[in-house]
Amino acid sequence: MAVSGEISIEAAAGEGVVPDFAATLRARSLGRLQRRQVVTLQINLGKLCNQACLHCHVEAGPRRTERIERATLERIEAVLDRSQGVEVVDLTGGAPELNDNFRWWVARLRQRGLRVMVRCNLTVIFVDGQHDLPHFYRDQAVELVCSLPCYTADNVDRQRGSGVFDQSIEALRRLNRIGFGVPGSGLRLDLVYNPLGASLPPAQAELEERYRVELRQLFGIEFSRLLTITNMPIKRFAQQLRREAAHDDYMQLLVDSFNPAAAGAVMCRDMISVSWDGQLYDCDFNQMLELPVVGGRRTIWTIESFDELGGDAIATGSHCYGCTAGAGSSCGGELA
Ligand code: SF4
Ligand code: SF4
Repeated sequence: MAVSGEISIEAAAGEGVVPDFAATLRARSLGRLQRRQVVTLQINLGKLCNQACLHCHVEAGPRRTERIERATLERIEAVLDRSQGVEVVDLTGGAPELNDNFRWWVARLRQRGLRVMVRCNLTVIFVDGQHDLPHFYRDQAVELVCSLPCYTADNVDRQRGSGVFDQSIEALRRLNRIGFGVPGSGLRLDLVYNPLGASLPPAQAELEERYRVELRQLFGIEFSRLLTITNMPIKRFAQQLRREAAHDDYMQLLVDSFNPAAAGAVMCRDMISVSWDGQLYDCDFNQMLELPVVGGRRTIWTIESFDELGGDAIATGSHCYGCTAGAGSSCGGELA
């Protein structure tokens, strides 16, 4: 049961008996989740993507039409003008590059001196009109975060679509050639691993070492860091779990693996997530579940500064066990 100011959506994420996440925090003397200061601004530029991956929590794909408008981005800029704490802007999608405003927006953010992270699916650079993306990324010194859930073709293609692995490897080679991921270049290229099925990721440091050896030996590819991310039991991945009658077991695994140290470090404590239509959410997962921030719906037009969101309680649900299981999980990888 939810307590005042907290929202429970247990039924949305788990059909079995899943202990209330907020109650679990209280039982472990962790108190309620509260935002400290917004340091990371995550913006979903839209749901259009050139891929349609099995596990996609955004349910993105080539036929999605939702995309952020220039006016919404200009409003975000006005709010940034009055904000002191934001240091990083994390651009997601879909494939954020497929929004017509993408390059204009990245350049505006960089002119402000903000770090810009782009969640790049790698294959987007082979889309018509996007072939010069690697040079654009380099000229703007963006930080790339690229999905590559395995170093073998079968596993990647099974999750992300036929031919995706070969294109991803070719994209990584092109990015390496202009410096991304190459030690000493100052151009960061992180890879993202998520499990293929209903299991927790292995230890990040060990898997990073395996990736480094395999990608170097097999393909001559370099990267900066490997980030391991737990699959969230929502949207397409939840549907897959249900088809395989594995949903309740996966939720139980997440609950049984609750790690208090990870709970103390979850990413929502330092971020805010803006959807393509300007709504504010505590994180990308809450955004996809349309779980509004505590206190009701707020938008980019109803706030003056991102700083004013510091101290707010965070809306939680049973999907939050995905962030606190094992070594923890966030858009930046392991937490503890
Ligand atoms: S590339 Fe990313 S956004 Fe696109 S469908 Fe796959 S997981 Fe979703
Ligand atoms: S899903 Fe994770 S990041 Fe989002 S509110 Fe829950 S704990 Fe925070």
